[in-house]
Amino acid sequence: MKRFTAVIFAALLLAGCAAGEKNLTSGDMLPETTAPATEASAETTAETEPAIETTVETTAAPETVPEVTTDPLDFAFEPFSAVMYATDTLNVRELPSTDSKVVGQLNPGDEAEVVGKTPEGEWYVIRFNGSNACAYAEYLSLEKPEIEKEELDLPEGYYFQKDSDYLFVVNKDVFLPDDYEIETSFVQGSYELEAVAAEHCREMIEAAKKDGIDLKVLSAYRTVEYQKNLFDRNVKQRMEDMGMSYDEAVYDVSINIAPPGGSEHNAGLAVDIIDAGHWDTYEEFEDTKEFDWLINHCTEYGFILRYPKGKEDITGYIYEPWHYRYVGLESAKAVMDSGLCLEEYLG
Ligand SMILES: [Zn+2]
Repeated sequence: MKRFTAVIFAALLLAGCAAGEKNLTSGDMLPETTAPATEASAETTAETEPAIETTVETTAAPETVPEVTTDPLDFAFEPFSAVMYATDTLNVRELPSTDSKVVGQLNPGDEAEVVGKTPEGEWYVIRFNGSNACAYAEYLSLEKPEIEKEELDLPEGYYFQKDSDYLFVVNKDVFLPDDYEIETSFVQGSYELEAVAAEHCREMIEAAKKDGIDLKVLSAYRTVEYQKNLFDRNVKQRMEDMGMSYDEAVYDVSINIAPPGGSEHNAGLAVDIIDAGHWDTYEEFEDTKEFDWLINHCTEYGFILRYPKGKEDITGYIYEPWHYRYVGLESAKAVMDSGLCLEEYLG
């Protein structure tokens, strides 16, 4: 059990923690999660309620009657070539059946290279990770859908002109804008944060050292692309090492890792700090002198404990004693003293 916890913890930290979502659950491997379980994102996949009719306009259909081909997966499909887009979240399956194994997922707006369709047109055969796979036709469209996604409304140019600019929420529901760009600076080793946050983080680490406290950075700024790879890698790992199905793995990963663009680590404003002696279980970090120092001094450097105990159902994150978020020197103390999490504080 100890070793299992260690694996999970290492995964969390490598994942940079962070990032849970609203899909909190009293999952079997997550200690002390008090938040109620809400529906799994996997449950929202579109194909669970397949419509009887296929309504996708297949204007690109070939004029000649195509030959029926059989691919190595042993199902018949007609060649049909088009670039299409997912209109909803949908499962990608090995075979054209909702009973078939899920091999991946397309998110709204994702591009799919369609190479065939089943004789009734109910399923498209798409290229997926180098192989043929099947996607329910109703949720693929020739037109790229407009994706509605709540994005932070930040001014153009470099956003951080003044201290108060750092006080905003990024979470699973509120994403960074696509053109979000920051200047970064190193905090420890190869770890970077947004330049101003980095400067204060360095000061915090140095001040701790003077008090005999050795703080170790385990994760800091992560690009959106890195976040996507991280998410996908963890899904794969759970499928391979723990025998989870794709849906189970996505659900499990989403408890601990934020969606790309929905992580404070993507904003360059979050740092995961721990002491070198507690790699194996994050529960114990709370009982260290390092945590004690951080909780008493982080606001002096503009950081807050972002995912406090008891706020799991609001933040969507498990209690993370190692995750600190830069909100600015002016605001940090007021936020922490309020006893509110950032979502509550900002209303
Ligand atoms: Zn974190």
